[in-house]
Amino acid sequence: MRIEENIDLSTYTTMRAGGIARYFFSVETVEDIEKAVVFAEEKDLPVFILGGGSNVLVLGDLSGLVLKINLKGIKTDKEAETIFAGAGENWDDVVSLCIKERLYGLEALSGIPGSVGAVPVQNIGAYGVEAKDFIESVEVFDIKEKQKKILSNEECNFGYRQSIFKEKENHYIVTGITFKLSVDSSEIPQYKDVKTFFKKENKKNPTPKDIRKAIIEIRSNKLPDTKKIGTSGSFFKNPIVSKSDTLLLKKKYPDMPTYDYSENTQKLSAGWLIEHIAKYKGVREGNVGTYEKHALVIVNYGNKNGEEVFSFAEKIKKIIKEKTNVELEYEVVVV
Ligand code: NAP
Repeated sequence: MRIEENIDLSTYTTMRAGGIARYFFSVETVEDIEKAVVFAEEKDLPVFILGGGSNVLVLGDLSGLVLKINLKGIKTDKEAETIFAGAGENWDDVVSLCIKERLYGLEALSGIPGSVGAVPVQNIGAYGVEAKDFIESVEVFDIKEKQKKILSNEECNFGYRQSIFKEKENHYIVTGITFKLSVDSSEIPQYKDVKTFFKKENKKNPTPKDIRKAIIEIRSNKLPDTKKIGTSGSFFKNPIVSKSDTLLLKKKYPDMPTYDYSENTQKLSAGWLIEHIAKYKGVREGNVGTYEKHALVIVNYGNKNGEEVFSFAEKIKKIIKEKTNVELEYEVVVV
């Protein structure tokens, strides 16, 4: 077992902030995970799971054991129209491979940074597609029972950017996922940016490959490159509020976009609220700011201190709460 000590976590997160992990273990097999869990139990250490580090904000030093999930392996089954990917695989490489193999469905989820293991945790979603629509089952290691298990889609309790793996009592570590895809082309996302893109290109019947290309281009024009600047993408979730609340808000902010979510609720755009109500698009305070092209994205201009990023996010939350009474929630996991 290669457990390392006192590892700087800022190099393992795309936000490029964070403190020192007392113990750090890069696991490549389920057996590694089991050994690590026993080690943590013996030393009475909390365990923190780290994937690609693209959706996490580490505030300071972690006294426990950080498990960097590196389980690899990809297996496609053309007949069953499924693909299995280990939790440590790069998510976008898997999306790209699916399209090459003519297994479709994940195109709209192109270009999202991070690893496969984070996909069900967050139930990642973009342009109207959610990962849960294509997840057949999730392989996990059950920390409590110390054994491998396969959870069905239903057992994962998926919701909007939510799953069983985000619940407080979670005792599962995701080790791999089986996706159920289709040989039939998927629908074109009905989001404004995508429609505008194809209109400009004059493409009436885009192929899944075209959709992937479009999404990557739209994202790269709007989102910062994690290779160049510290960020964890969308920092806040889109709030879901009652229709009666949106009616009241609409009186004050008639241009505010709303999207029906359920019979009695609507989804608001957190990015719009931050840009138009808090007036916080492209605002920099010290080493932190909102991205100039997208207010939902917080960028770190070089400080390793996660606390500064957190205070900035809290400030935005407070402004939105005061002006709209809407409670913004973090999409990133704050540790
Ligand atoms: P956008 O297209 O500017 O739209 C703003 C928000 O309004 C989106 O977040 C989206 O909610 C909602 N929306 C827009 N058109 C909609 C429609 N036709 N039906 C239902 N909801 C609609 O959003 P953006 O920030 O540029 O992001 C585009 C997509 O990529 C979004 O789906 C977003 O979630 C996704 N994305 C995800 C991340 C991430 O890190 N997880 C980062 C960037 C973008 P939804 O978010 O629910 O779709």
